[in-house]
Amino acid sequence: QQPGLGALLAGLRLSPRARPVHAVSDVSFTIQRGEVMGVVGESGCGKSTLGRMVAGLLTPTQGQITQTTAPGAKPRPLARQMIFQDPFSSLNPRHRVVDLIGEAPRVHRIVPAAQLDDYTTEMMERCGIDPSYAGRFAHQFSGGQRQRIGIARALAVRPEMLIADEAVSALDVSVQAQIINLFMQLRDEYALTYLFISHDLGVVRHLSDRVLVMYLGRIVESGPVADVFDRPNHPYTSALIEGVPRLDRRRQVYQPIQGDMPSPLDPPKGCHFHPRCPHALPRCRTEAPRLRDIAPGRQSACHLNDQK
Ligand code: SF4
Ligand code: MG
Repeated sequence: QQPGLGALLAGLRLSPRARPVHAVSDVSFTIQRGEVMGVVGESGCGKSTLGRMVAGLLTPTQGQITQTTAPGAKPRPLARQMIFQDPFSSLNPRHRVVDLIGEAPRVHRIVPAAQLDDYTTEMMERCGIDPSYAGRFAHQFSGGQRQRIGIARALAVRPEMLIADEAVSALDVSVQAQIINLFMQLRDEYALTYLFISHDLGVVRHLSDRVLVMYLGRIVESGPVADVFDRPNHPYTSALIEGVPRLDRRRQVYQPIQGDMPSPLDPPKGCHFHPRCPHALPRCRTEAPRLRDIAPGRQSACHLNDQK
């Protein structure tokens, strides 16, 4: 078996009223080591929940995530690290950069105490942060630099996989390109695997090998990124590529009663996409399509494939 990561998830999240919400369900995929897997879909589709489960921050109530390693190698603790849109939104902005990056390696004894300063400096250099800034505080940095610090912080625990959730979405386009280049450089240097979650299809196309398209907590299509984006199979993928704003405009003109993506609390029966799908068949209202192979390496969950 190839080293990599397999996920077979039927995740449940509890709402405040303890009613189970299937934020993600029946999701199954495998990522090969060194691969960049993009995840796209409108906000609320479950891609962040999926990312958090893969990172180990949320525990799926059903299903599992398995990580297979090279023969003889043991899976490392902290092997999967999450990179958020704003790495400092939940951290004390008055921590010095050197402490932010060095804390986890110190606590988890990733390097001997005597080497910690050198190690922290190395992480800063690898991520393009001037080591002379080590004593500065997070709030003194720009968004792009803060993201570099966030990446250095994640890298410092020697992860095998980074889960990036909208990690470049808040940045200016030029800074975005620099951070994407950093991700790619680190992939080569550290043989990292990525789950790259973004609503930005251009960014996902640029750096992913394969892509998962999610709709209302399920994967509706997957495959090599260029293939999926150039020849989408699923009507939802087509709509996403044509442009979500355009889909929204059209809906406002033709279907003013339809809301946005239906709530996961009350998903439509059958194919979850049927209320918005221009190709819906009668059976789409009652029968949920299964994600299945439509070509080598390509999967889609749409009844139209039965008619081809
Ligand atoms: Fe549209 Fe039916 Fe395919 Fe769902 S299964 S995407 S409703 S055609
Ligand atoms: Mg999100």
